[in-house]
Amino acid sequence: MEELLERLLEQCRAFTSWGQAADYIPELAKSDPASLGIYVIGSEGKHSWAGDCHQPFTIQSVVKPILLLQALLDNGTEHVMQRVGVEATGKPFDAINAGDQSLDSGNINPMVNMGAILMCTLIQGKDYAERFQRLLELTRRLAGDEEIDIDEAVYCSEKTHGSKNRALAYLLKSHGLLEDDVEEVLDCYFRACSIRVDCKALAHIGAVLSNRGRLPASNQRIFPAAMSRYVNAILMTCGMYDGSGEFALRVGVPAKSGVGGGIMAVVPTRMGIGIYGPALDRKGNSVAGIRLLEQLSRELYLSIF
Ligand code: GLN
Repeated sequence: MEELLERLLEQCRAFTSWGQAADYIPELAKSDPASLGIYVIGSEGKHSWAGDCHQPFTIQSVVKPILLLQALLDNGTEHVMQRVGVEATGKPFDAINAGDQSLDSGNINPMVNMGAILMCTLIQGKDYAERFQRLLELTRRLAGDEEIDIDEAVYCSEKTHGSKNRALAYLLKSHGLLEDDVEEVLDCYFRACSIRVDCKALAHIGAVLSNRGRLPASNQRIFPAAMSRYVNAILMTCGMYDGSGEFALRVGVPAKSGVGGGIMAVVPTRMGIGIYGPALDRKGNSVAGIRLLEQLSRELYLSIF
């Protein structure tokens, strides 16, 4: 497996020059666009890796499935479905979907920014500091790393340059979909996006989702199997935003990307995969990361289709 990962990584490294690191959050522009790393945790507990897999980066949108899990754990499926839907948007992650239909709860998708901001209101806690702390603790448990924390520089950068997310949150507020103080909700969202991870952490989260809610090593249950079906299904249709259809064709497994360059992929019953490649395509997905997953999927017959 290590040899295969090394070979594919070297083949795909050239694709890093096809993309660019995100710069709308200035702190993210500091990452090295030539980086590429992969970490795999198999269902039998074997760890394999290659490339820049120990490089830390911020989780960004890969936190969205964790937000969804926390919302499901705190409120149950029915309540969550009344607040955020499950239908794909086919639109960019930061799209301002202001049409009447898209501001219907059923059409707010939890894997794009508007839905993720709304999900912060579904986490239970006496205030937003406590809500974020609970989300951080769930992330640590899923990632198998108690040391995980936020990257203060990225958090400040996001908060200072978050006008588009503010617009999305105020739009929700103006339609009566968000009751709490907008700045407090956004603060929780910005912190959530700024959680610092590495490829191993993302592979571990993917492994729990592939193992139907149980930790890979101990088999300890973290969430009910029905919730992994719920989250994996949404990742399949919307995890790569408006690139999800093409990703389903080329790779064929549930996955979630983030503008920090991470991709967390779930191969049901087989493995969790963490990727880091901060050079992004125009949709905000790691360009070399997708190539690497495509090649790995072809070599190991990972597609679920
Ligand atoms: N923090 C980022 C934002 O709000 C997350 C987006 C992403 O990773 N696609 O814009």
